[in-house]
Amino acid sequence: MPIATVNPATGELIEEFAALTKEQIDQRLTRAEAAAVTLRATDFGTRARWMRAAADLVEAEAAHTARRLTVEMGKPIVQARAEVLKCAHAMRFYADNAESLLADQALADPRTVNASVAYTAYQPLGVVLAVMPWNYPMWQVIRFAAPALMAGNVGLLKHASNVPQTAMYLDTLFERAGFPAGSFQTLLVGAADVEAVLRDRRVAAVTLTGSEPAGRSVAAVAGSEVKKVVLELGGSDPFVVLPSADVHAAARTAVSARTMNNGQSCIAAKRFIVHTEVYEAFVEAFVAGTKALTVGDPLDEGTDVGPIATESGRRELVDLVDDAVAKGAVLRCGGSAAGTRGWFFEPAVLEEVTPAMRVYREEAFGPLAVMHRVDDIEQAVTLANDTAFGLSSSVWTTDPDEERLLISRIDAGAVFVNGMSVSYPELPFGGVKASGVGRELAAEGIREFCNLKTIWKN
Ligand code: NAP
Repeated sequence: MPIATVNPATGELIEEFAALTKEQIDQRLTRAEAAAVTLRATDFGTRARWMRAAADLVEAEAAHTARRLTVEMGKPIVQARAEVLKCAHAMRFYADNAESLLADQALADPRTVNASVAYTAYQPLGVVLAVMPWNYPMWQVIRFAAPALMAGNVGLLKHASNVPQTAMYLDTLFERAGFPAGSFQTLLVGAADVEAVLRDRRVAAVTLTGSEPAGRSVAAVAGSEVKKVVLELGGSDPFVVLPSADVHAAARTAVSARTMNNGQSCIAAKRFIVHTEVYEAFVEAFVAGTKALTVGDPLDEGTDVGPIATESGRRELVDLVDDAVAKGAVLRCGGSAAGTRGWFFEPAVLEEVTPAMRVYREEAFGPLAVMHRVDDIEQAVTLANDTAFGLSSSVWTTDPDEERLLISRIDAGAVFVNGMSVSYPELPFGGVKASGVGRELAAEGIREFCNLKTIWKN
């Protein structure tokens, strides 16, 4: 895959980049190793000052950055601006809170371990490789970089090959804000170069956000090197609606939850599991809401859904729809390629989906919704869990017993009650099953790439 910016709204090649040579990669690793020594010697206050300066830059440059995101991967410009500003918020969150999140923790009674003092301290691991996807090209990187740098780690970014302009913006961002040279660098390389970088002795750990196959491959290398790994992989999140819920509010939110970011979000609701008593009302409102979306130029302020980021991504969606329809599914709207140029796809809704269809099991990475009818809450839970993934979930009910049951029985990293799944710097984020290992954000996220050191004193 070439490292290039191709505008998905037009198919036009904007800029192509040469991949780094082996020597250039080596130079960057050497800089990263040196920066790790410098950065770990700085205190939280200094790093917080640099991190706030970086947040100031992100805010001041938000308009340009947002446009770059939209041109590189097609998200509606309004959502691109929101993504950029969310990054600044996360940077400030970690600037303000890293020190307390990583504070030493003393054992209340050290005599129980025959010590005069016993405590734990979080210390940086060193150079962390971040392999990142294109769907939230700023946010995915910042949610790793802000806690990692505040903890005193150094970042090396291997970004997705279709967002190199954003990758190069991030390459200089932290240094411009005052961080020591080499604290955060982009490696313009293809996926095939990741293994050698990860095996390099100067790299201590790896985080990957992306597809399940990429995660398995990187985790296998990390495993063979005994290096810490965090994986944020795919999802096929259930959105469960029970009769006690406000069905119209649920349907309104459901349309956003499925089509946000052109439907290309790991925590997008993908499978709608609706009780038979409210099924018709929900589906009618959902289909009407989907048909009312404005699909078009993502640079237009009024656009709800832009193009799919890549031509192959759109083909994959069309194939999923064709396979389902050929096997008896009912297509309520959309489902085909749209427009004369670019990679537009009409948001689609499928009913009567069965396990024989690919879309029943595979993650639909685009605005393609699958409706399921269930007779009771037990059936809803069984269906919600009948997936390889377990990232997040959204459940709609006003009955406290139903709420408790759903929270305890859904196998996922999060349950959002009467709302859609969203990530916040203040809350841990991550999945179970094939959705990954480890957590990002909040206290858990910043601690992932720390050496939790035990100190015992006689
Ligand atoms: P992808 O193909 O896995 O790409 C993600 C990153 O991994 C890119 O930088 C890619 O580089 C690299 N990569 C791909 N194969 C690799 C390999 N074998 N070894 C090392 N690196 C490799 O992901 P995608 O399909 O573009 O992105 C969508 C997927 O990401 C979806 O499954 C989505 O659910 C998931 N995702 C998860 C989260 C989360 O937080 N859980 C968030 C966003 C997206 P190249 O671009 O050079 O191939």
